[in-house]
Amino acid sequence: MSKIIKTRSGKSMEPAISVVIPLMNEEGSLEELFGKIANVLKRMQTSYEIVFIDDGSTDSSFDILKELHQEFPSNVKVIRFRRNYGKAAALMAGFKSAQGNVIVTMDADLQDDPEEIPQLVEMLGKECDLVSGWKKRRQDSFLYTLPSKAANFITGWLTGLHIHDLNCGLKAYKKEVAVDLKIYGDLYRYIPVLVHLMGFKVSEKPVQHYPRKYGQSKYTIGKFHRGFLDLLTILYTAKYSRRPLHLFGLWGLLSLFIGSVIDGWLILGRIFGETSLSNRPLFMIGFLFVIIGIQFISIGLLGEMISRSERNEQTYTVREELR
Ligand code: UDP
Ligand code: MG
Repeated sequence: MSKIIKTRSGKSMEPAISVVIPLMNEEGSLEELFGKIANVLKRMQTSYEIVFIDDGSTDSSFDILKELHQEFPSNVKVIRFRRNYGKAAALMAGFKSAQGNVIVTMDADLQDDPEEIPQLVEMLGKECDLVSGWKKRRQDSFLYTLPSKAANFITGWLTGLHIHDLNCGLKAYKKEVAVDLKIYGDLYRYIPVLVHLMGFKVSEKPVQHYPRKYGQSKYTIGKFHRGFLDLLTILYTAKYSRRPLHLFGLWGLLSLFIGSVIDGWLILGRIFGETSLSNRPLFMIGFLFVIIGIQFISIGLLGEMISRSERNEQTYTVREELR
């Protein structure tokens, strides 16, 4: 049986705001969190839903959510994963199920303040498709914040998106952003960059950040190299995943050219002069350039074949359509 409320005309009522909350083992904070969010949204006088995604909790989180759902069936949705799939998968599931025109995401640990929701939502508009929270005074340890500061700096420099805090759980999205966004693995850390590279407008707003009251952080230090590799993936796929030969082919041809010139010159010297090739290490270097060049071009061609087999996937995002 569908749990969506039906109006008299038979149309389902869509909530104006969907709050999407990924969580794993957060039994301590869920009730308090729900109470706070419900309060804020009631004050805003909009229709709303809260979508909790239980990402494989092993504590009593799901039982608490089940009770909340039974008590407030039209406002609380719960998705329970079969096992822990990670925050990115949880967010994707939440976006898929969310019905609101505006989607707010938030961590379940009460480190973010639900009181920020109205202002975040208000900032969305013509000039802004995603508002990302900025934990200006962050309540985590120095060892934890330093790598992410460095990552933000490098990311800004490489992508042209200059914001202070990429990985804040608190964000407000226009629905179309959430519909078009595809994330997996650790990529939730780079949502503002991905959204920016898709052509949407991204802003930030300083938000309150509190120390964790209950439970433990699910992430440990030492993720820096993974973050850097992810950034590489994002930059590469955003620009070249549809035309890999343009990247690899360029460097491949260049390397092939350099190698051919060096070796060609040495071979001519061997044929028309007295030089022998056996005492010319440069010949090996030229040879190396030739091999690397051929390798690069081959990788580019392989990439083209792979991307061709994925061509039916949508490669663009539409801003408006007049029909
Ligand atoms: N989380 C999740 N799946 C995971 C790990 C974390 O859904 O595999 C949730 C977690 O319950 C919390 C949010 O993601 O609601 C952020 O996690 P956490 O607070 O541990 O991260 P931190 O704030 O320490 O970066
Ligand atoms: Mg947290």
